[in-house]
Amino acid sequence: MPRILIDRTRCIGAGQCVANAADHFTQSAEDGLSVALAPATTAVQRVAVERAMAACPVQAISLIDDP
Ligand code: SF4
Repeated sequence: MPRILIDRTRCIGAGQCVANAADHFTQSAEDGLSVALAPATTAVQRVAVERAMAACPVQAISLIDDP
């Protein structure tokens, strides 16, 4: 099940991840930075997360395929 990893040292709170995949990302009420929600379990969800990855202006999002 592909896990979503967010590098919060890179994240600038631009919100493109939430705009593209609201089921998988939210922005922290405390610092505005991204927080991962549900993993991408289906192909459709993976496409949404990949869209968020492409839209992130600082390449802070990774998808980790666990063996
Ligand atoms: S799109 Fe990237 S920079 Fe913007 S909130 Fe999401 S992870 Fe952070």
